[in-house]
Amino acid sequence: MRQCAKMRCEERAVATVALRYAERVVWIRDLIPQRDPNLLDLCVDHADRLTPPLRWRLLDERRVDEVPGAAEGAGPVTVADRLPA
Ligand SMILES: [Zn+2]
Repeated sequence: MRQCAKMRCEERAVATVALRYAERVVWIRDLIPQRDPNLLDLCVDHADRLTPPLRWRLLDERRVDEVPGAAEGAGPVTVADRLPA
């Protein structure tokens, strides 16, 4: 397992974060198989709490495996439910 890159965090890394300076984009994706020294591996907590620098955009391309609220008896979630209206 890979550990979160944040200091003193011992959680398992689940996401990889890349900074695209040319586009000013903070790019979050599912953990890549090979560790890349140019990228940051973060746990779900730190990835979720990530805030982009001023005038940067956050691009979250992680797959949505768990839909918040789905466990509370909201019924089956279809793909259409996840699309923006
Ligand atoms: Zn962490």
